[in-house]
Amino acid sequence: MSEDALKRKIAELEKTVESLEKDLIHDKLTGLKTRAFFEEEARIYFDVAMNAAMEHGPRRRQWFGFTHISFIFFDIDHFKKINDTLGHPAGDEVLQSIAESIKTSVRDGDTAARWGGEEIAVTLVGATERDAFHKAEDIRRQVENTRFGKFPDLKITISAGVASASPGGTFEKTLENADKALYAAKNTGRNRVVTYSEISK
Ligand code: GH3
Ligand code: MG
Ligand code: MG
Repeated sequence: MSEDALKRKIAELEKTVESLEKDLIHDKLTGLKTRAFFEEEARIYFDVAMNAAMEHGPRRRQWFGFTHISFIFFDIDHFKKINDTLGHPAGDEVLQSIAESIKTSVRDGDTAARWGGEEIAVTLVGATERDAFHKAEDIRRQVENTRFGKFPDLKITISAGVASASPGGTFEKTLENADKALYAAKNTGRNRVVTYSEISK
């Protein structure tokens, strides 16, 4: 291989690596972050929040920037039916639209990621469970009121589970709590936001 050809090959490979790195961070369909990225980043935020909370006590708010951290899990209601009745491409559009609503509703420092098929996870730094509940409720209402040009009669709803880090809690446990709250929202009628503290009383 000539030197020029080799250089071209290297440049090509560098581009491939760059694109693969981008794919590791961004979900192609929705433009949200990937689950892998979310888990790495959220764990770091979680640890920082927990350390700040331990040093200064859980009741005050602002020492190192934040001591609270909350998570929301959203899941589209009866999404399978949308695919089955309107087709997979329509399902993709609905998913993209909901992802957009979530992305534009959260703050710059917060992260929204595609957790799985039609499930979206959000990290809210500095947010109490109450704050996160209100944010999730705003998004739930926004989605409920979204109309899709091509399908004027289509009404989409989402359910959400919210959980906050509490002193002594772990990252895994907090995400598990958000998931349990989501499960409770599904089991109590859908189109609802449930907090973990509601179900753990
Ligand atoms: P529930 O209210 O209990 O959440 O019901 P559901 O139908 O939303 O849940 P279920 O888990 O039964 O189905 C999820 C569906 O989401 C099935 C799967 O084909 C669809 N799905 C997952 N990822 C995508 C995607 O990227 N695009 C589309 N169009 N559909 C997807
Ligand atoms: Mg669903
Ligand atoms: Mg699901």
